[in-house]
Amino acid sequence: MSAAVPDSPHNTSISVAETVQPREMAAGFASAQVLLKPRKAQPFFGRHPWVLDTAVARIEGDATDGDIVDLISDKGRFIARGLYNSRSRLRVRLYTWNHGEALDEEFFRQRLERAIEVRRELRYDNPSGACRLVFSEADGLSGLVVDRYGEYLAVQATALAISLRLDLFVSVLFDLMHPRGVVLRQERGAVQMEGISHEADRHWGELPTGPVFIEEHGLRYGIDLREGHKTGFYLDQRENRRIAADYVHGRRVLDMFCYSGGFALNAARHGGASEVLCVDSSDKALSLARANAELNGVANLQFRAEDAFGALQESVQKREKFGVVILDPPKFARSRAAVNDALMAYHQINRLAVSLLEPGGILVTCSCSGHVLREDFLHMLAGIAQRSGREIQVLQQRGASPDHPVSATCLESEYLKCFICRVP
Ligand code: SAH
Repeated sequence: MSAAVPDSPHNTSISVAETVQPREMAAGFASAQVLLKPRKAQPFFGRHPWVLDTAVARIEGDATDGDIVDLISDKGRFIARGLYNSRSRLRVRLYTWNHGEALDEEFFRQRLERAIEVRRELRYDNPSGACRLVFSEADGLSGLVVDRYGEYLAVQATALAISLRLDLFVSVLFDLMHPRGVVLRQERGAVQMEGISHEADRHWGELPTGPVFIEEHGLRYGIDLREGHKTGFYLDQRENRRIAADYVHGRRVLDMFCYSGGFALNAARHGGASEVLCVDSSDKALSLARANAELNGVANLQFRAEDAFGALQESVQKREKFGVVILDPPKFARSRAAVNDALMAYHQINRLAVSLLEPGGILVTCSCSGHVLREDFLHMLAGIAQRSGREIQVLQQRGASPDHPVSATCLESEYLKCFICRVP
């Protein structure tokens, strides 16, 4: 390692798992071969990075979790090189299809450099702004997410092999980005599925003592890097928050599932909404939204702590009307098996939202469930249009902001859908 991580008295102790260096790191070449079953190789020749346990025939050689392995077809052909985890259904994650390329520090440094360069090209490099610097498969780094909040970084390892190499990644990130501090955010699902050891409060360099303030579209937000949702902010909705504001002029807006108030603040500041009602079931989220409204001197926001399903139903009963309803719910489908229930839940909230809209009103409706496909979501909207007798004109079909690219060789990286609809 060449890059130096600032020594901090606050650095938390490192768990046993983290002290075990994957054995072949120095060389960067495979310690074992993972042989595929017949007729399973095609997706991997097509550079899909996830090898499921069901595709694997056997392992030759000695592979410990986190080790580098080569993926070999049943005909004995080298396909790709990746990182192994016997504890995960996602048995191997692939990183290079070049036989001569080692998965060493230099390799990962280049991947990080490339990812950071993309965000520069996107002009997402405002020093007081925030963006996703590394988005896992979409940046050729399956299992690693890095978000920048001003001078701080939040890292998330959703793969065991990445979590075992965190010191390496963080060290390179210090070298390339010179952050004041890096905070580890763990996702419960990944910790369980990958067998990652849970570590509370791990960080490198300085740990922010209060909120980290960032700027987006001229609005300021206080971000809680240690406790906030995701890594602190829904960076993926950045462009949608701004575009949605173009439809709210002079209108009464309902920002349902408002979290820290991003859609509401843009609607009030940039869109000229007459008033915005912010609803979230979490008191913590609402206090973030209130603090952000105050921070920006935005006065025409109201806040209500309520469950969305109940709140929407009650508003319909009271015959309330809005010019714009924004629905940005949490992930409703965590697996393929949950898709039908999720679609029913989307149907329910969208149907209620449509009945709250005055004629010519705007519905901004989102889904961050990757398992629910764009087309499924459109069919759900079609069902509402048919049954309610109200036309739904889809004006814009949008996705996540471009710092969350979709990898064409791993379409699972597309997850966020945002439809802007007019309801005559
Ligand atoms: N629109 C936000 C992100 C929303 S995230 C932004 O741009 O930043 C989803 C939010 O839904 C979370 O804040 C969560 O607290 C809230 N939530 C989850 N379940 C809910 C429910 N049943 N009713 C209301 N809010 C809910």
